[in-house]
Amino acid sequence: MKNRLLLAILLVSLASEVVADEDKELSDDISNKVSNTFSNKTSNELIESLQNKQWLHGSEDCKSNDDPAIEVFQYDKSSYILRQNKCLSYEAPFIYVLVGEDKILVLDTGATASEQEFPLYKTVQTLNKKHAEQDNSRNREVLVIHSHSHSDHYSADSQFENQPNVTVVAPNSKGIKEYYAFKDWPEEQTTIDLGGRSVTIIPTPGHQEEAISIYDTQTKWLLTGDTLYPGVIYVKEWHDYKDSITRLVEFTRKHKVSAILGAHIEMTNRAGEYYEIGTIYQPEESGLPLMAADLLMLSSQLSQHDKSTQIVLDGLVVEPLGMLPKLISSIVGWFI
Ligand SMILES: [Zn+2]
Ligand SMILES: [Zn+2]
Repeated sequence: MKNRLLLAILLVSLASEVVADEDKELSDDISNKVSNTFSNKTSNELIESLQNKQWLHGSEDCKSNDDPAIEVFQYDKSSYILRQNKCLSYEAPFIYVLVGEDKILVLDTGATASEQEFPLYKTVQTLNKKHAEQDNSRNREVLVIHSHSHSDHYSADSQFENQPNVTVVAPNSKGIKEYYAFKDWPEEQTTIDLGGRSVTIIPTPGHQEEAISIYDTQTKWLLTGDTLYPGVIYVKEWHDYKDSITRLVEFTRKHKVSAILGAHIEMTNRAGEYYEIGTIYQPEESGLPLMAADLLMLSSQLSQHDKSTQIVLDGLVVEPLGMLPKLISSIVGWFI
């Protein structure tokens, strides 16, 4: 009887924290993944766990896929990597959530707008609440930025727009230049302070005009969006891309980089082999992290090619964008 009473009290107290059933499910699922056990791990152990991490990777038949819309991976006490379910979008982009003392940075918002299908805002606010409870503070301001302005990286912006205490930097050149106040794009770097951790914004055009890379002082991650990732990297402006890769090499010479993390996985775990565009099931996909050695190898290959050409490395492929897709990409860019 006493046990039953205790159970009832526990259930009531648990229920009182919850606004809606579906929020609770989401919240519990994420909370289970949020813990403080990370403080004992060395940075090498953290990177190793990320290298060995096998992500949810879609299904042959998406009708039978019951994986969550968003996979949440906690890397350290306040850094998260989210991946969109491949059955929602074959792009399955990665989204990075960095929690500072004052602000939460969300890098990219994925490929799906619908909150019902892809509850990204709710997921971020669940993490926000969890951290507020941990430090007995209020919810932090949420800052949404983008690695670049392709639609698989900004589609859920609408979930964040007009929410209280949220800033969304518009995914276009005007928004970027206004928010970061670049005076000498793409040569200049700028910094955002999140409270106790800061990120450096490095312009890296080439895959797309407005592409940036982000360096996080806490994890030492270099977040490169679609500029550098284990997959087929389409390059729109060859010379801009070469300059951007040189800029990243120079950056890694001056700063410790633990891993280079992009926005997709398209390579298999066999050298130089990749899944075709549109693949919704990748049972043998490669890991997410690239290392400084991959960047150096790419830089050395690029330096040998003044004209655009395909470059195939073990962990990634660089593919020049043809004239027609380039034109389409520019026309689409005028309307967003
Ligand atoms: Zn892209
Ligand atoms: Zn992309």
